[in-house]
Amino acid sequence: MSAEFDFIRWLRARTPISTGVLVGPGDDCAVLQPTSRQLLVTTDLLTEGTDFILEQASARAIGRKAMGVNLSDIAAMGGRATTALVGLVLTQSGTTEQIAQELYLGLEEVANEFGVAIVGGDTNSWAGGLVVSVTVLGEALRSGPLLRSGAKLGDALFVTGPCGGSILGRHLNPRPRLREIAHLTALVPITSCIDISDGLSADLQHILDASGCGAILDADAIPIHADAYELAKQTGKTALHHALTDGEDFELLFTTSSESALKLAGEPCAIRIGTCVESGLWLRDSTGVNPLHPKGWVHAFTEPE
Ligand SMILES: [Mg+2]
Repeated sequence: MSAEFDFIRWLRARTPISTGVLVGPGDDCAVLQPTSRQLLVTTDLLTEGTDFILEQASARAIGRKAMGVNLSDIAAMGGRATTALVGLVLTQSGTTEQIAQELYLGLEEVANEFGVAIVGGDTNSWAGGLVVSVTVLGEALRSGPLLRSGAKLGDALFVTGPCGGSILGRHLNPRPRLREIAHLTALVPITSCIDISDGLSADLQHILDASGCGAILDADAIPIHADAYELAKQTGKTALHHALTDGEDFELLFTTSSESALKLAGEPCAIRIGTCVESGLWLRDSTGVNPLHPKGWVHAFTEPE
C-alpha cells in the first residue's frame, strides 16, 4: 500500500451528485437530508481468510459482494437503499493501490446499479489481512419495514428465485432483490421477510423462531438452481439438499396471507414453496411429511462438504 494513495480523495472525485446527499465525502461527516420514511441501517464486514481468499476471488468481485450483501439486507427489510459508507483495512504488505481501487470499483459498480451513493468512508492498513466493512442506509418503503416476526399460521411461504449451489460462483455476485421487493410490497402486504444467506431451511427457521410458528415446505415446489444440480454431481447429495441448505443465494424468503398469495400467482419473483403451520419444520415429498432439520452453511468460501 503506497502512502500516497489517498483513498478518500480518490473516492471524493468519484462520488456522483445524489438527491438527499447535501455533503458527500471530503468533509468531517457526510450530510444527508432525511425523509419522513423510517431509516434502515445495516453493516456487514468481510475479512480475508474467513470470507474470501484474494487468490481465488478478484478484488473487484469482493467489492461487489461487500456491497451486494448489504443491499440484500435492505431488500430483506422491504426497503430502498440510498447511501453507503465504506471502511477498508488494507494489508501493509501486499495490498497495492490497484487492489484497493479494484475493490472500490466493485463496490461502486453495485452501488451505481441500485442508485446508492457512497458518501464516505475510511481506509487504514495493518499487519493482518484485508478487511472490507460496508454500512448501508436506506428507507422503508411505504408498507413499512418487513420483519422476521410477522409470519402467521396459514400464511403462504415464497422465495424470489431458485436456490442452491451458489459456491459455483453466484456467492460472489449477490443480486440484491431490491426491485423485486418493491414490486411485491406494492402488490400485497408481506407479513415477514429475510434474505437467504445461511441457507433456505436455516433462514426459514429464523423466521419461524421470530414469528413463533412452524412451516411445511413442498419439495416439488422448491425452485432448484442449475448450479445445485451441477454441484450435486460433485458431492453425491441431491440438488434439493443443496437448494435447502446451501448459503448465500441472496434470494428473499417471505410470507403473505393465503388470500394475498392468490394475487401473486404468475409473478415470476414469487414462487410459493410452502405454508406456515403451528409448529415445527417439515418437508412434504412423495414419502409423506417428514421433519426437516434446518442446516445452513457457515461459510461459502470453504469447500463444499
Ligand atoms: Mg440478512
